[in-house]
Amino acid sequence: MSIIFELQRDKSLRKRLIMACLSVALLVSTIYIIISYRLALDLGSQSELIAIHQQAQLLHAELVEADHPPKERIQELIELIYLRTPPFPIAENTPQGIAHTSDTRRKNKQSQQKNSQPKVYVQVSGPDIDHFFNYHIDNTTLKKSLALINQKRLDQQPSQNGFIKIHGQHYIWQKLSDNHYTLLLIVAARSFDQTLELVIKRLSITSIIVFWIAVWLALTLSSWMNKHVQKKNEILSKLATHDPLTGLPNRLYLMDIIENLPPPEDKDSLYYAPVKGCLFSINLDRFKEVNDTFGHSAGDQLLIEIAQRLQSALSKEQLLMRTGGDEFLVWAPGISADEAELTATAMVQICNTPVMINKLAINTGASIGIALYPDHGSNAETLTISADIAMREAKRQRSGWRIFDSQSHQGQSDSIHRLTLRSALGDALSQRQIVLYYQPKIDLQTGQISGVEGLARWNHPDEGTLTPDYFIDLMEQSGHVQAFGRYIVREAISQLSNWQNMGKVVPIAINFSPYNLLDPGLLTYVKNLLQHYNVPPDRLEIELTESATSMNVQNISERLTAFKQLGIKLAIDDFGTGMSSLSYISHLNVDTIKIDRSFITDIDSNSAHKTIVESALRLSNAFHCKTVAEGVENIKQVEILQEMGCDHAQGYYYARPMTTDEITHLLKHNHSLPLAT
Ligand code: C2E
Ligand code: CA
Ligand code: CA
Repeated sequence: MSIIFELQRDKSLRKRLIMACLSVALLVSTIYIIISYRLALDLGSQSELIAIHQQAQLLHAELVEADHPPKERIQELIELIYLRTPPFPIAENTPQGIAHTSDTRRKNKQSQQKNSQPKVYVQVSGPDIDHFFNYHIDNTTLKKSLALINQKRLDQQPSQNGFIKIHGQHYIWQKLSDNHYTLLLIVAARSFDQTLELVIKRLSITSIIVFWIAVWLALTLSSWMNKHVQKKNEILSKLATHDPLTGLPNRLYLMDIIENLPPPEDKDSLYYAPVKGCLFSINLDRFKEVNDTFGHSAGDQLLIEIAQRLQSALSKEQLLMRTGGDEFLVWAPGISADEAELTATAMVQICNTPVMINKLAINTGASIGIALYPDHGSNAETLTISADIAMREAKRQRSGWRIFDSQSHQGQSDSIHRLTLRSALGDALSQRQIVLYYQPKIDLQTGQISGVEGLARWNHPDEGTLTPDYFIDLMEQSGHVQAFGRYIVREAISQLSNWQNMGKVVPIAINFSPYNLLDPGLLTYVKNLLQHYNVPPDRLEIELTESATSMNVQNISERLTAFKQLGIKLAIDDFGTGMSSLSYISHLNVDTIKIDRSFITDIDSNSAHKTIVESALRLSNAFHCKTVAEGVENIKQVEILQEMGCDHAQGYYYARPMTTDEITHLLKHNHSLPLAT
């Protein structure tokens, strides 16, 4: 997985870590050695300075106190101090050591002895002596030493000492003078060589230990870090490629799959077998409502449940992904358009099956768009766009699923269109571009208008009159939904007042989405308007779709009851399409059941639908509520409905939704419908 590999661990990390630890160890060891060396050197040279000072004092005292010319005595003393006793006892002092010494060791010892030959220069001057003694210091060195010491201009000082370095060898010198004698002592310093030797001996072992500890530490640390980083990377790569809620892969997977598909073979080839596949874009229809009414944890539960159901309905090769809030994708390789349709139908059915959350059956429904690979897009992006466009079209048409139509660019322009519309929603309300059209409801016994349904229309300045399909869901997803609800209520109540003033009593039904009922101030708002316009509350009816009522039972029932108590009527819209609970209908004391037009359209030919209508009628009889058959388009349907005992009908057969002026005209003249043409 190319994209995923970008998140894979950095293999050179271990190497770099080892190098870093070794460098640190090396640095620490070096600092340690330098400090120890400097310390030992300082201590050694300090003690050498003290020693030479004492030796010079001894010689000087001898000069002062001697009662005969002191030359021999001085020489004797010098030899005693420097030449007879080797400055540092060495191994050959032990007889066993010598016995076991090999040739090489003997040679080493000889050179050591040569090196450890004392190099001493003593110069004495006074009234009875002016002499120098030189042991093993060559002339050039001596000259240089004296020149360097003389540069120090020590005439006035009774005692001075210091170090000088000539040809890499350090010398320590001491000058003592009083009124009679001046003594200059130069001795090759041993502290430097010996300190170095000591430091190398003692510290090399320590350094090796430190170094190995560092190597061990580096290896342990790097392997620990490596494991840690690997674990983190795995989590990161899982997070980047999977949805944490459902555990499903996300869009990255799709990109990887599509990009790694073999290129389609040459169409002229004998073995041409097009690479096929389908991408389904699934979007839940009422997920936002679930989230808003029941809270996010209920929404999450729903998503998990739907994801599991979809997953179990798919085959092994088909990959389900979650790409956003309520958006899923399914990649199904190697299936044809016909098979895709079957799969989509099955998935729509799965999403329509209610999910039990908090002991409530919640049904969101879904719209699915299908895009075929490679016809509707040969890369992940275009394929997803095509599937999304088809999905939006399915949502708009409430058709469940739809295959992308590559012939018309309808979908594409639709998306842009919707974006422009969405941005104009605020203006639509403030500039009163939204109006109510009215569609009559007919009393099937008398043919008279028994009421009207107010249906929103948007008189868009550029687009003309737009039906609710274009803007209701946009409104519901926007922040204007509650303002829109109040707007519609005001329109309806002021219209009721107008008709009342004309002496007409015609109830108006308005459509509410559950979002409107979530508006906490709506009840008071309606109450005040009714009072203001002096309109009896029973002239107003609220239509709620069946799916909305079943979904929001607990949360909206209190609000609905409050509206009912005010005297406002309540209708269940699109009856038969959702999962109304009977006890709910009776509990809320519903006034009207509106049978969905899908059952009316083919009532003359579809016996199952006819049976559903019969049941709805029986139900409304039992609960003493009115029945309205929606979508009545012809006389045959009217006759069947009349025969079945249905009270009211609404549909194009009688009248299409019309403007205020048109309906007012109809009402004024007490026209019965349908109008004779
Ligand atoms: P609905 O409540 O089911 O409204 C009836 C729809 O069926 C109306 O579509 C109406 O024009 C259409 N219709 C009526 N008779 C026939 C017929 O004989 N044949 C056919 N094919 N259709 C018929 P419309 O006006 O486009 O409204 C669509 C939906 O938009 C409504 O469905 C309703 O759910 C929603 N809607 C309309 N106005 C509002 C509103 O103010 N607020 C809210 N929240 N939703 C609204
Ligand atoms: Ca309605
Ligand atoms: Ca309806």
